[in-house]
Amino acid sequence: MEFASHIDGSPFRLDAKTATGIQNRLGADIIMCFDECTPYPCEFQKVEQAVERTIRWAQQCREAHANPQQMLFGIVQGGVVQKLRSRCLEALIPMEFDGYAIGGLSVGEGHEAMIETVEYTAPQLPEGKPRYLMGVGMPADIVAAVRAGVDLFDCVLPTRNGRNAYAFTESGSIRLRNNALIGDPEPIERDCPCLACRKFSRSAIRHFFNVGEMLGPILATIHNLTYYQRLISQIHRRIGDGTFGDWSKEFIETHKNQEKSEFINP
Ligand SMILES: [Zn+2]
Repeated sequence: MEFASHIDGSPFRLDAKTATGIQNRLGADIIMCFDECTPYPCEFQKVEQAVERTIRWAQQCREAHANPQQMLFGIVQGGVVQKLRSRCLEALIPMEFDGYAIGGLSVGEGHEAMIETVEYTAPQLPEGKPRYLMGVGMPADIVAAVRAGVDLFDCVLPTRNGRNAYAFTESGSIRLRNNALIGDPEPIERDCPCLACRKFSRSAIRHFFNVGEMLGPILATIHNLTYYQRLISQIHRRIGDGTFGDWSKEFIETHKNQEKSEFINP
């Protein structure tokens, strides 16, 4: 891939080999292989081509990776097509990566199709290595993916929704610009230990958003990150004490229709 430098416009080429080399020199703890993520919906043939390219790039990254102290993760692509997920798994597992990611989901396929693909793919990954679901997701997606055996996540939702005045709570999303919050003395979430909930009312945070005061997005972001941290801690605790199974089923049922912020861009 060719880029133009943002400083002087000079051409710059980034491919699987050079990207891996740069990350080796940066000292990254986990390096992700190059991959091609297809949109949704997508024609079978395009998903198939993306899978083949992803496999070729994975091999090139494997060969270029020069520091065994750093972890290199392979990425399984294949959209929502089980046959192509299998093709990618069969090619990547013998390459013996340090961990494996499931990519190409959370691109508009919806909760059911996403989880169906995760439930198909995750159990086929090597048992002793970390499994990472890329770019996911809403609280119900995370809980359902953990049920399918996923260990790691990354996602912009807590921060992006926070900046767009959406707060996550145990009882659903709150739109912080809503007029119904005028004069509401309650915090975003009563038992939340975050700064926003300890020090500010919903009505104050609503006011900050409506006058364009940056404190609004900052407080909502702090709250949402705290919500996600508490969710993950709860998952840990429940797996540990054996109560995750029943709790997670109920959680998914009550949270799977939770709305995302309507703003797509950050
Ligand atoms: Zn809070």
